[in-house]
Amino acid sequence: MHLGLFGGSFDPPHVGHLVVAETLREAFALDRVVWMPAARPPHKPGHTLAPAADRLAMVRLAVAGNAAFEVSDLELRRADETGVPSYTVDTLRALHAAYPGAAWSLLIGEDSLATFGSWREPAEITRLARLVVYRRAGAGAASAGPFAHDARFADAGPLDVSSTDLRARLRAGRSVRYLVPDAVGAYASAHGLYR
Ligand code: ATP
Repeated sequence: MHLGLFGGSFDPPHVGHLVVAETLREAFALDRVVWMPAARPPHKPGHTLAPAADRLAMVRLAVAGNAAFEVSDLELRRADETGVPSYTVDTLRALHAAYPGAAWSLLIGEDSLATFGSWREPAEITRLARLVVYRRAGAGAASAGPFAHDARFADAGPLDVSSTDLRARLRAGRSVRYLVPDAVGAYASAHGLYR
């Protein structure tokens, strides 16, 4: 079993996320991609995330219908229990215990590779998972860094969509149709998210 870990705020999940996950699943022959909504990331202090339960529900709606996608609430549950966000290295250790015998790829954007050396236990992360680095549409040129030689690279897909832009549209009462799956748009309006 070869599994991919795809973490993010998913606030809200959108077609850009879906295309990245599907593109990398195919390019690296992953049996499944595990989507991992993150608890409030410490590096995004300015922006208040939609409630974890809503982001989790929207990710479940977004991936429904793709048998190769699954959603884990491991980081959100840990944050509830401990009050702090998880480190990727701890998440990978927990996933190795939960899926014995599976090989993992960690799917990260190229911008994250540049700062990867400052993550907690980066060398241990690369023992627990192969780095799969993708270039986001509209993002700048490659930034190598000391962990680049461990990584495999891919283009993520052509969709220049961001959750930041979607939140602004929803706040302004504008349409997000075709930028998020219909079920995600319906959920966001029914729950008055991002107003
Ligand atoms: P925000 O705008 O709130 O920062 P986001 O859409 O950039 O949100 P996350 O929800 O944290 O980000 O995304 C999870 C991962 O998906 C990130 O690593 C991000 O780089 C990547 N990603 C998001 N949108 C795209 C896109 N359109 N193309 C490629 N990768 C994307």
